[in-house]
Amino acid sequence: MERFEAEVYGTRLVLLRGDITVQEVEAIVNAANPDLTPGGGVSGAIHRAGGPVVTEAAARIRRERSRLPTGEAVLTPGGKLPARYVIHTVGPIWRGGTAGEAELLAKAYRSCLSLAAEHGIRTLAFPSISTGAYGYPVAQAAEVALKAVQDFLKENPGKLKEVRFVLFSSSDFQTYRAAWERVKAL
Ligand code: ADP
Repeated sequence: MERFEAEVYGTRLVLLRGDITVQEVEAIVNAANPDLTPGGGVSGAIHRAGGPVVTEAAARIRRERSRLPTGEAVLTPGGKLPARYVIHTVGPIWRGGTAGEAELLAKAYRSCLSLAAEHGIRTLAFPSISTGAYGYPVAQAAEVALKAVQDFLKENPGKLKEVRFVLFSSSDFQTYRAAWERVKAL
């Protein structure tokens, strides 16, 4: 079965293969672009499923402030999604690995987790940030992502009930599953 669960400092960590737009959690994370426009990939799917409420709230944020810097996160309503909120973050574009990509990717995950906790959100689902159009190698991204979540949960025990990773392909699911075996041993 393409689903895995572990208990991490009092929070349930779930890895599963699926579509993030149908997840019944309080907030889903969007791998956004700095302009917060729908674009393609997971972002296009989230804006399409959430409808104009999501796209207009994102456009309003974009007008009120400059482009969203890599690693930062903002919150909008979820519109027609089952999730009440969307947390939009910008992951790094892969440039070979020596341009601070790992630190920026970890920062993107941390920003989302902190923003969720600030808003009292207890269940959160992530896609695999940066590993589509932004070209980050999946095995490396998975390790950074899971380590960032593990570190946050260690520092904030019990703040969140569930953190879910929703992987779009079977191969990404297996890659995250294997990465967790390495991260949990750290
Ligand atoms: P980025 O620009 O951050 O790389 P992408 O949207 O191009 O973001 O890809 C991020 C990941 O999201 C990829 O693994 C892609 O396959 C996946 N993805 C695309 N659509 C969905 C969806 N509906 N649910 C979950 N993951 C998705």
